[in-house]
Amino acid sequence: MPVKEFMQQSTWGEFTAIQFGILTFVPQPTSIDSRIFEYWWLVMETNDLDYLCDRVAALIAGANRVVVFTGAGVSTESGIPDFRSPGGIWSRFDPDDFTIDKFMRSSETRKLQWQMLREGGLLKDAEPNAAHYAIAELEKLGKLTCVITQNIDNLHQRAGNSADRVFELHGNMQWVRCMGCGNRFPMDDILRRLDREEVPDCPFCHGILKPDAVFFGEALPQETLNNAIHHSRNCDLFIVIGSTLVVYPAAYMPMYAVEAGAKLVIINLMPTPMDSRAVVVICSKAGEAMPKITEGVRKRLESRSG
Ligand SMILES: [Zn+2]
Repeated sequence: MPVKEFMQQSTWGEFTAIQFGILTFVPQPTSIDSRIFEYWWLVMETNDLDYLCDRVAALIAGANRVVVFTGAGVSTESGIPDFRSPGGIWSRFDPDDFTIDKFMRSSETRKLQWQMLREGGLLKDAEPNAAHYAIAELEKLGKLTCVITQNIDNLHQRAGNSADRVFELHGNMQWVRCMGCGNRFPMDDILRRLDREEVPDCPFCHGILKPDAVFFGEALPQETLNNAIHHSRNCDLFIVIGSTLVVYPAAYMPMYAVEAGAKLVIINLMPTPMDSRAVVVICSKAGEAMPKITEGVRKRLESRSG
């Protein structure tokens, strides 16, 4: 895919906006009299992913509070199907059956759900990919405040991010929660019970067990959401990876960040509604861009300390 960029450079040589689009405008500061010609626009096109990743690396190295926000695009590279994509899970199951209301109301719906979890094995065998590891490496380099994720697969933690730095807006499928007493159980333990039970219940109170992921129509976990909003509003660099920013309220996070004055970077295969607010937009797979970016950060930090 051709990589095109729209880049705005101030007369002080500081990059203020870089963004991909159909056309590529690269404003150059004039060497004659920058006070008269504040911007000099050129048109160019580049396929240079390395160059753009290096720009992002520079932003990360220069930032104090970096928040990474991940969506389905990061998980699909680990082989986890995007719930919304054709041929995905909703081509076999009716999404209307998976609202929180229906789940709580109908034991038949719960039976379907557990059947799907048992046979689907959606997350089974999924391993962290290069993007997960690169994000975990940012934390080790001291350049990551937290990860806010829409994913429910636990792969950030498995790649090495500290659990207390990962805010899972949509829950985590490694766990099952009792809707009666609130106790949590490992998903694997509950799945084993499906050999002899169609609809498992809580061993303590016989309440309804629900995968600890946020269902349609269900509220996001309040404390997690509060933390995510806090970090979005208090970062100076917010990096969206693999999200098209169409699922709310998760998609509000980059808006909070930009409104509070943070720089926004977007790495996604598809355009997003926030592209025009970003200083860098990279149209590539997360697993291709992120290792380059983290490597660029590491080199910068090493040259500083050396
Ligand atoms: Zn219970």
